[in-house]
Amino acid sequence: MTEKHFILSPSQALQYEQAYRVVRRSVDARQRQLKVLLTLLADDKGQLIPHDAPIPLYTPPQWQDVHSNHKGEVVIIGMGPAGLFAALTLLQNGYKPVIYERGKPIAERKKDIALLNRNQGLNPESNYCFGEGGAGTFSDGKLFSRSKKRGSMQRVMEWFHYFGAEDSVLYETHAHIGSDRLPQVIRNMRECIIQHGGEIHFSNCMDQNLWQELERKKQPTILAIGHSAHDTYRLLYQNGVALSPKGSAMGVRIEHPQPLIDRLLYHLQKATDKEVSSLISQVGHAAYSLVTQVDERGVYSFCMCPGGHILPAGSNTNGCVVNGMSTSQRNSPFANSGMVVALNETDYNLYGEDNPLKGLLFQEYLEQMAFDNGISPNKAPAQRMTDFVYGKRSDSLPACSYLPGLVPSRLDQWLPAPIGSSLQRGLLDFDKKYRGFLTREAVVVGVESRSSSPVRIIRDTTALYSLSHSWLYPCGEGAGYAGGITSSALDGIKAAEAVITNECS
Ligand SMILES: Cc1cc2nc3c(=O)[nH]c(=O)nc-3n(C[C@H](O)[C@H](O)[C@H](O)COP(=O)(O)OP(=O)(O)OC[C@H]3O[C@@H](n4cnc5c(N)ncnc54)[C@H](O)[C@@H]3O)c2cc1C
Repeated sequence: MTEKHFILSPSQALQYEQAYRVVRRSVDARQRQLKVLLTLLADDKGQLIPHDAPIPLYTPPQWQDVHSNHKGEVVIIGMGPAGLFAALTLLQNGYKPVIYERGKPIAERKKDIALLNRNQGLNPESNYCFGEGGAGTFSDGKLFSRSKKRGSMQRVMEWFHYFGAEDSVLYETHAHIGSDRLPQVIRNMRECIIQHGGEIHFSNCMDQNLWQELERKKQPTILAIGHSAHDTYRLLYQNGVALSPKGSAMGVRIEHPQPLIDRLLYHLQKATDKEVSSLISQVGHAAYSLVTQVDERGVYSFCMCPGGHILPAGSNTNGCVVNGMSTSQRNSPFANSGMVVALNETDYNLYGEDNPLKGLLFQEYLEQMAFDNGISPNKAPAQRMTDFVYGKRSDSLPACSYLPGLVPSRLDQWLPAPIGSSLQRGLLDFDKKYRGFLTREAVVVGVESRSSSPVRIIRDTTALYSLSHSWLYPCGEGAGYAGGITSSALDGIKAAEAVITNECS
């Protein structure tokens, strides 16, 4: 088999995609005329392979039954992408995963999230961060990372596909599952783990008692807690686990009307509505990825969700945190994105004591500020984009997808340095790139504080166990070695392989 590459117009590309087997697809919107870059599968004579040819997409994964016969038990704390992919890797190799997850199964978790969206309170153990599937379950489900190493991600994509994601996750450069489809994919993973003999204990938080039991037994344990479990970081700190502060990025979420973004990015300012919707039916809504430097500090867009919603993504009752998602159809009239400012370890000193958890203190301070300025529980503080940049009060706010509601607030005044001032200048830069991006039709919403972990759980670079506790394998976003669904899942796989190599063989 071989591959053939094509650069096509969107309508030509659609015909090719429907007729032939696609290996890779991406949209190039840099020029006025949009292009689709397609890589198609061909036979050795160069003949393109039909879309429905009886050739498997990949070798399906196999899981061993570990009900009674297994090579060893491995505890996993946390059932997000890192914990799930670790569990599946253990099952592949004949080891029994025993998962402890502090949150609830998806069906029950959905009820808590519905209450949260109706502004009827946050359950600190069951929300957008905690519960079956972790922060990944109701996430946007963009399956790509900043890493250019597609090869190592292939297994993650294949497993997502095996458990129910669309074929496109196997070939789209910017693969996307959507928050309506992800829960079923996660449920299918859970069923597989249980059917093959793995154990899952919901509503079971690793507390001091469980920690002591694991430590006494030197039980091989994969720690996949995500980056929102501040209490668990504190537990690790008190028990002498090697931690260090880590740079991160915090800021706001910004939301524009999606048609405005489509016209800006697809160079369609003068096109009719019909022309715009025809193009979108071929290539989907436009997404941006923006980056600039302000006084040598990175300011960038993060986790952009075309046709999406802003949602309440906190886990503390006295903090306001926002994030974004979209469904598989990406059909809301809004485009949202995190707009964050890179922070280094010394930035945290401004707002807290100098210890490994100082980044958490900074984060909590910021989330509390947003909470206090949101006034009513879970209403988020917000300001029109132009008012934020030019330092004015917003008398009214534009329509927004955030269900619990917005409260006009002077984010320009209370966002701490260096976040507020860097964002103002960064947004002016982005308007130079896309004239019209800075608009009073857009709204900034506070705060996007959980783009990555401000703490690292330090591990040996090759053996992957904790530098202080050799039975403990920190992994995923919470350990500070991954960010996002795919890289966290991949890190979970690596952690499981390390346990197998170091402990059990
Ligand atoms: C709204 C939203 C949208 C997002 N969209 C995207 C996206 O489009 N693409 C992308 O790549 N990333 C996205 N992310 C980020 C992504 O979800 C995370 O990077 C990813 O889930 C991290 O995986 P993880 O397994 O390391 O941790 P998590 O998914 O955070 O899972 C950790 C799990 O550990 C559990 N836990 C914590 N402490 C304990 C304890 N003491 N005992 C037992 N259990 C514990 C938690 O309940 C949680 O279920 C989004 C996140 C959110 C919130």
